[in-house]
Amino acid sequence: MKAKYSIVVPVYNEEQAIPYFYKAITKTMTELGEPYEVIFVNDGSRDKTAEIIKDLSSKDKCIKLLSFSRNFGQMAAIFCGLEHAEGDAVIDMDVDLQDPVEVIPLMIEKWKQGYDVVHGKRKARKGESWFKKLTSKIYLKFIRLISGLKIPENVGEFKLFDRKVVEAFKSMPEQDRFLRGATAWVGFKQTEVEFVRQERSAGKTKYSLKKMVKFASKGIVSMSTFPLSLASIAGVAFSIGTTITFTTFIILACLKIYLPLAAWLFPTITCCFAFLFSIMGFNNIYLKRIYQECQNRPRYIVAEKVNIEE
Ligand code: UDP
Ligand code: MG
Repeated sequence: MKAKYSIVVPVYNEEQAIPYFYKAITKTMTELGEPYEVIFVNDGSRDKTAEIIKDLSSKDKCIKLLSFSRNFGQMAAIFCGLEHAEGDAVIDMDVDLQDPVEVIPLMIEKWKQGYDVVHGKRKARKGESWFKKLTSKIYLKFIRLISGLKIPENVGEFKLFDRKVVEAFKSMPEQDRFLRGATAWVGFKQTEVEFVRQERSAGKTKYSLKKMVKFASKGIVSMSTFPLSLASIAGVAFSIGTTITFTTFIILACLKIYLPLAAWLFPTITCCFAFLFSIMGFNNIYLKRIYQECQNRPRYIVAEKVNIEE
């Protein structure tokens, strides 16, 4: 029977957390009384993650497994799961029960009311360091500013997607995808349900500082070309600075206030910078175009068709 709901779960060295997750998700999904599937995407684990899932899937046909050949990262695992999901509504969540399974029926309720994306919004975060909370808050504000996308605050990867949103994701063939940015980019009717983020059920976080930095920089580059605009901004700033300084010096010279010759060196240097940054800025405008063309995203996403034959 085709699954109505798909749960997509990226897993990386999670042998300790999987049994708790399996028990909790099975209880919640069985109570809903509709066909479901749980797709575990094993992101190159080196522990017994794959064996444990295979064992579960031999006893329970709702449990499915996709195993990567190596660690490709949480985003690659999530998008792989979304691409293989067959449900009308697809829920993405972590395996460590930090995203409580009890929130799923509330998300489904919103989906039934007609929402296409339901974000799990964290009203509190247990068991997470102040450093992680602060850096993720600053990061989100920064990415919202430079990308111009309305990425909601305090949301992570715990979300429900309607089938049409999943299909929209599939039409984004770029290499590096960032779920929070892509969700804001595709649009559709979106809402939130609040929850308290729990402590990890078992095991440790899979994000070292190095991995967090890599994840953050990929997010910025995949959702914004702002860093490429920095050269143009510098070009404009240096041009304004140079014009003001030269004009002031000329006015002073007209008023017979003569500055030492060395003072003229300053606007001459900034003039060179203005010239160089402007050229770099123009190059980056073309680079931006090439980058956007390479991403190969659709130019638009149609949400609804009326009287249009497929
Ligand atoms: N994960 C993954 N690949 C990775 C890192 C993490 O698939 O390279 C999975 C992990 O198993 C978990 C989810 O992504 O199900 C979130 O990871 P984690 O709980 O370690 O992140 P945190 O909650 O500490 O931010
Ligand atoms: Mg976690």
